[in-house]
Amino acid sequence: MPCSLRVSSDPRRPGDPREDVRDLEDLLDTTQSGWRDVLIRHQYLPCIEALGTLPTAAGGGFAGRPGPRVPGIYVAGDWVGEEGFLMGASVAGALRAAELALDDGALEWGEMAASAAR
Ligand SMILES: Cc1cc2nc3c(=O)[nH]c(=O)nc-3n(C[C@H](O)[C@H](O)[C@H](O)COP(=O)(O)OP(=O)(O)OC[C@H]3O[C@@H](n4cnc5c(N)ncnc54)[C@H](O)[C@@H]3O)c2cc1C
Repeated sequence: MPCSLRVSSDPRRPGDPREDVRDLEDLLDTTQSGWRDVLIRHQYLPCIEALGTLPTAAGGGFAGRPGPRVPGIYVAGDWVGEEGFLMGASVAGALRAAELALDDGALEWGEMAASAAR
Protein backbone atom coordinates (compact mmCIF):
# COMPACT_ATOMS: atom_id res chain seq x y z
CA MET A 1 0.00 0.00 0.00
CA PRO A 2 1.49 3.38 -1.00
CA CYS A 3 2.03 5.78 1.85
CA SER A 4 2.96 9.42 1.40
CA LEU A 5 4.01 11.91 4.05
CA ARG A 6 5.18 15.43 3.60
CA VAL A 7 6.40 18.45 5.47
CA SER A 8 5.44 21.82 4.04
CA SER A 9 7.85 24.52 5.05
CA ASP A 10 8.02 28.24 4.49
CA PRO A 11 10.26 28.68 1.41
CA ARG A 12 11.73 31.81 2.95
CA ARG A 13 12.94 29.74 5.91
CA PRO A 14 13.94 26.33 4.55
CA GLY A 15 14.53 23.69 7.22
CA ASP A 16 17.06 20.89 7.35
CA PRO A 17 15.93 18.02 5.04
CA ARG A 18 17.70 15.43 7.27
CA GLU A 19 15.72 16.66 10.25
CA ASP A 20 12.50 16.58 8.21
CA VAL A 21 13.00 12.93 7.20
CA ARG A 22 13.74 11.99 10.82
CA ASP A 23 10.52 13.74 11.93
CA LEU A 24 8.51 11.95 9.23
CA GLU A 25 9.95 8.55 10.17
CA ASP A 26 9.27 9.24 13.85
CA LEU A 27 5.67 10.03 12.95
CA LEU A 28 5.36 6.73 11.07
CA ASP A 29 7.00 4.84 13.95
CA THR A 30 4.32 6.27 16.24
CA THR A 31 1.33 5.79 13.96
CA GLN A 32 2.31 2.70 11.89
CA SER A 33 4.72 0.67 13.97
CA GLY A 34 6.35 -2.14 11.97
CA TRP A 35 6.34 -0.16 8.73
CA ARG A 36 10.05 -0.76 8.25
CA ASP A 37 9.46 -4.56 8.10
CA VAL A 38 7.07 -4.25 5.14
CA LEU A 39 8.84 -1.48 3.29
CA ILE A 40 9.39 -2.33 -0.40
CA ARG A 41 10.53 0.98 -1.79
CA HIS A 42 11.29 4.31 -0.19
CA GLN A 43 11.65 7.60 -2.01
CA TYR A 44 12.51 10.84 -0.31
CA LEU A 45 12.26 14.08 -2.27
CA PRO A 46 13.80 16.83 -0.18
CA CYS A 47 13.10 20.45 -1.08
CA ILE A 48 10.62 19.88 -3.91
CA GLU A 49 8.88 23.04 -4.98
CA ALA A 50 5.14 23.17 -4.41
CA LEU A 51 4.78 26.67 -5.78
CA GLY A 52 6.78 28.81 -8.23
CA THR A 53 6.16 32.11 -6.44
CA LEU A 54 4.40 32.97 -3.23
CA PRO A 55 2.00 35.83 -4.01
CA THR A 56 2.46 38.26 -1.13
CA ALA A 57 0.56 41.45 -0.33
CA ALA A 58 3.84 43.35 -0.67
CA GLY A 59 4.30 41.93 -4.17
CA GLY A 60 0.78 42.93 -5.26
CA GLY A 61 -0.87 39.54 -4.63
CA PHE A 62 -2.06 37.55 -7.64
CA ALA A 63 -2.20 40.77 -9.72
CA GLY A 64 1.51 41.29 -9.03
CA ARG A 65 2.48 38.13 -10.94
CA PRO A 66 3.84 38.64 -14.46
CA GLY A 67 1.49 38.15 -17.40
CA PRO A 68 1.80 35.31 -19.95
CA ARG A 69 3.20 37.60 -22.64
CA VAL A 70 6.96 38.14 -22.34
CA PRO A 71 8.89 39.63 -25.29
CA GLY A 72 9.42 36.83 -27.78
CA ILE A 73 7.65 34.06 -25.84
CA TYR A 74 4.44 33.17 -24.02
CA VAL A 75 4.76 31.72 -20.55
CA ALA A 76 2.51 29.70 -18.26
CA GLY A 77 2.96 28.37 -14.77
CA ASP A 78 1.78 28.80 -11.22
CA TRP A 79 3.75 32.07 -10.96
CA VAL A 80 2.01 33.64 -13.99
CA GLY A 81 -1.14 35.70 -14.42
CA GLU A 82 -3.75 37.27 -12.18
CA GLU A 83 -6.01 34.26 -11.98
CA GLY A 84 -5.94 31.20 -9.74
CA PHE A 85 -3.49 29.56 -7.41
CA LEU A 86 -1.19 26.55 -7.85
CA MET A 87 -2.50 24.27 -10.63
CA GLY A 88 -5.42 26.66 -11.22
CA ALA A 89 -2.95 29.44 -12.06
CA SER A 90 -0.97 27.12 -14.37
CA VAL A 91 -4.04 26.11 -16.34
CA ALA A 92 -5.47 29.66 -16.45
CA GLY A 93 -2.05 30.99 -17.57
CA ALA A 94 -1.71 28.31 -20.25
CA LEU A 95 -5.16 29.12 -21.67
CA ARG A 96 -4.37 32.84 -21.65
CA ALA A 97 -0.96 32.27 -23.28
CA ALA A 98 -2.61 30.18 -26.04
CA GLU A 99 -5.29 32.86 -26.59
CA LEU A 100 -2.65 35.58 -26.87
CA ALA A 101 -0.55 33.50 -29.27
CA LEU A 102 -3.63 32.97 -31.46
CA ASP A 103 -4.64 36.66 -31.26
CA ASP A 104 -1.10 37.74 -32.15
CA GLY A 105 -1.02 35.33 -35.10
CA ALA A 106 2.01 33.63 -33.56
CA LEU A 107 0.12 30.34 -33.62
CA GLU A 108 -2.69 28.92 -35.71
CA TRP A 109 -5.47 26.60 -34.57
CA GLY A 110 -4.16 23.81 -36.81
CA GLU A 111 -0.69 24.04 -35.29
CA MET A 112 -2.12 24.09 -31.78
CA ALA A 113 -4.31 21.04 -32.42
CA ALA A 114 -1.34 19.18 -33.94
CA SER A 115 0.94 19.92 -30.97
CA ALA A 116 -1.82 18.98 -28.50
CA ALA A 117 -2.20 15.61 -30.29
CA ARG A 118 1.53 14.87 -30.03
C1 LIG B 1 3.58 17.61 -2.97
C2 LIG B 1 2.80 18.61 -3.79
C3 LIG B 1 1.42 18.65 -3.68
C4 LIG B 1 0.68 19.56 -4.44
N1 LIG B 1 -0.67 19.57 -4.32
C5 LIG B 1 -1.41 20.40 -5.07
C6 LIG B 1 -2.84 20.39 -5.01
O1 LIG B 1 -3.45 19.62 -4.26
N2 LIG B 1 -3.52 21.27 -5.78
C7 LIG B 1 -2.91 22.14 -6.63
O2 LIG B 1 -3.58 22.90 -7.34
N3 LIG B 1 -1.56 22.17 -6.72
C8 LIG B 1 -0.80 21.33 -5.96
N4 LIG B 1 0.57 21.36 -6.03
C9 LIG B 1 1.20 22.39 -6.86
C10 LIG B 1 1.19 22.03 -8.32
O3 LIG B 1 1.80 20.77 -8.49
C11 LIG B 1 1.97 23.14 -9.06
O4 LIG B 1 1.40 24.41 -8.79
C12 LIG B 1 1.91 22.89 -10.55
O5 LIG B 1 2.42 21.59 -10.86
C13 LIG B 1 2.75 23.95 -11.25
O6 LIG B 1 2.68 23.68 -12.64
P1 LIG B 1 3.77 24.27 -13.58
O7 LIG B 1 3.37 23.84 -14.95
O8 LIG B 1 3.98 25.72 -13.29
O9 LIG B 1 5.15 23.58 -13.14
P2 LIG B 1 5.52 22.03 -13.03
O10 LIG B 1 4.31 21.16 -12.85
O11 LIG B 1 6.60 21.99 -12.01
O12 LIG B 1 6.08 21.71 -14.47
C14 LIG B 1 7.34 22.15 -14.88
C15 LIG B 1 7.89 21.12 -15.83
O13 LIG B 1 9.07 21.64 -16.44
C16 LIG B 1 10.04 20.63 -16.45
N5 LIG B 1 11.35 21.29 -16.50
C17 LIG B 1 11.98 21.97 -15.52
N6 LIG B 1 13.15 22.45 -15.97
C18 LIG B 1 13.24 22.07 -17.26
C19 LIG B 1 14.22 22.28 -18.27
N7 LIG B 1 15.33 22.98 -18.04
N8 LIG B 1 13.99 21.75 -19.47
C20 LIG B 1 12.86 21.05 -19.75
N9 LIG B 1 11.89 20.83 -18.83
C21 LIG B 1 12.09 21.35 -17.61
C22 LIG B 1 9.82 19.84 -15.17
O14 LIG B 1 10.36 18.54 -15.27
C23 LIG B 1 8.29 19.82 -15.11
O15 LIG B 1 7.74 18.73 -15.81
C24 LIG B 1 1.33 20.46 -5.32
C25 LIG B 1 2.73 20.40 -5.44
C26 LIG B 1 3.45 19.50 -4.67
C27 LIG B 1 4.96 19.46 -4.82
